Amino acid sequence: MVAFFPTPFASDEVMYSVLARFHAASGNTSPKATIMDLYGITTVTAVIDLPAHFDALVSNLPVKHRYKADELIKAHTLFPFYSAFLPPQRANLVLESMKGDIGHSVHNRLGIMASSISTDKTLKYCRECFDADKIRWGEPYWHRVHQVPGVYICPIHRIPLYRSRLLPMNRHEFVTATREDYQETQDTNGDKEGVVMQDTQSAWDNAVSKITILLEDDELSTKYRMLVDNVDKLLNSSYANRPMEWFANHYVARLKEIGLANVHGHVRQVEFRREFLRYYGEQFLKVMQSSVSERDDNWLNAMVRKHRKTFHPIRHLLLMQFLGISLDEMFVNEPQYQSFGTSPWLCLNPAADHYLQPVVEDMSIRYDSKVKRPIGTFSCSCGFVYARKGPDTRADDKYRVGRIKVFGEVWERKLGELLNEDLSLREIARRLHVDVNTVKKYADLPRQDRKAISSAVPDDLRERQRHAWIELVRLNEKKSQTELRHMNKALYTWLYRNDKNWLIAHSLKPKRVITTNSRVDWGKRDEEILVLVRTEVTRILTLEGKPERVSISRIGKRIGYLSLLEKHLDKMPKTKSYLETVKETVEGFQLRRIRWAMQEIEREGQDLQWWRIVRKAGIRGEVVENLRVYFDF
Ligand SMILES: [Zn+2]
Ligand SMILES: [Zn+2]
Repeated sequence: MVAFFPTPFASDEVMYSVLARFHAASGNTSPKATIMDLYGITTVTAVIDLPAHFDALVSNLPVKHRYKADELIKAHTLFPFYSAFLPPQRANLVLESMKGDIGHSVHNRLGIMASSISTDKTLKYCRECFDADKIRWGEPYWHRVHQVPGVYICPIHRIPLYRSRLLPMNRHEFVTATREDYQETQDTNGDKEGVVMQDTQSAWDNAVSKITILLEDDELSTKYRMLVDNVDKLLNSSYANRPMEWFANHYVARLKEIGLANVHGHVRQVEFRREFLRYYGEQFLKVMQSSVSERDDNWLNAMVRKHRKTFHPIRHLLLMQFLGISLDEMFVNEPQYQSFGTSPWLCLNPAADHYLQPVVEDMSIRYDSKVKRPIGTFSCSCGFVYARKGPDTRADDKYRVGRIKVFGEVWERKLGELLNEDLSLREIARRLHVDVNTVKKYADLPRQDRKAISSAVPDDLRERQRHAWIELVRLNEKKSQTELRHMNKALYTWLYRNDKNWLIAHSLKPKRVITTNSRVDWGKRDEEILVLVRTEVTRILTLEGKPERVSISRIGKRIGYLSLLEKHLDKMPKTKSYLETVKETVEGFQLRRIRWAMQEIEREGQDLQWWRIVRKAGIRGEVVENLRVYFDF
């Protein structure tokens, strides 16, 4: 039992520092006597990062003390840092080891001994922190965050840390920060009793001088500061421990999102490594003892595999930062990122009869290192392949085609048909949702080539059969599907057995001309008009360029049924209720224009300023200020 015990100055005073201050104040000449006083045994050693025997220590403190072993461990040791990425049981085991008397097994239980990051066992300090401590507390102390491996600069003062020049003679020595501070001001011939001077060059000193040079690069300097800030945050937070696979799941989910893993979670290792090295640079990773070899089993690849292995917290922090995952996201959120939502995705081929239906199962994500965003490529069974930049952030993003990569057979055939119908190029472009130039390019082909594309009979049996069916449908537009089937039963049966999906995609009857006569089947008409209206709404919402308002009159004009929508909407309840949900109020349309303007301005690389946004969105007058409240301006 001791008669007094120093109160830790702050939660970042490491326990070793408190014990050293106790030793200095106790008047004990031998550290062994101090250890005997504090623990009741003499076999305890002085450990800086993960000391043990806290139960014994607490039981020997003055009677009215308010310390609990758990709290001391969490507030004044590196436990929160080292245990953060351990599964709950394992973290608890470490905590119990630190409370009990099996301190030597603490490091083993962490598994960090197996890691290739070696820890410099000496004390580190920040010159300016010492000066600030002296003003605030009357004396300097050893700060916890400075003792974390990989931390070479002070998170507060942003200056390189010094490594203590006083090496404890043995593991029973207590060196106070005051003594270090005093020693620093003395000649090197000063008082060396009980301690020996450090060698002037050490691995740590080398690392500090290397990193000081590297951090002259502003970008890297910012990244490193973020890393050190995260170390500090980790020390002072108490996130719940997560099961082993939790972290790998988070990493893989994010890799999928940015296109460095495919939808099945297969990581594109070469690109992944290359992007990671590009982010930090090899020199910096070397200083952090985290170089990534070209071998398959390098630590970076190992971290995104779902096996039961622990990794040094510094490596978790390096990877998290590269992936843009914050500590809060990592520990609080379930690991699920989906850049483009889940399968199946929409087919956006206006020529296909499954247009806008979720039929696309094949999607791949690639990481675009220039724009630092994922690009999703969607391949539909109708041959249409489109790509867009992700991630999707709004509900209508899924209707957005960034770029059409392949038009495919269905689309090309449709274009051929439309060209033969003598429609204007503008009208054809509108129906196929492409620009006029694309249609022109195709239309400019000599007529026989065009014909060759749309009606050449290929050698392949499947192609021949498909062609035959298309011709049958084309020549018998007025016939129903059943009638067509009976007209060439053998062909139908062959396609049904060998090419069923294609057949289904090409068997829906051609769009009927909707006529107005006295005996109208309103239920049927409602369905037909609804399809047209939906298509038009989607088109309006996915238009490139300045947005158009979703209004009933605009839709009516576009689909050629304005008076029907104006006069008979009540007879078409499905169309009516759909229109009710999608038509935009003036304000709703203004908000959409503003969102569009913000995206445009960002894409142009200009500053997001409110005046610039409203000008781009074309909004004027008093309403500008009313809208401002919806945005952070
Ligand atoms: Zn400092
Ligand atoms: Zn399709």
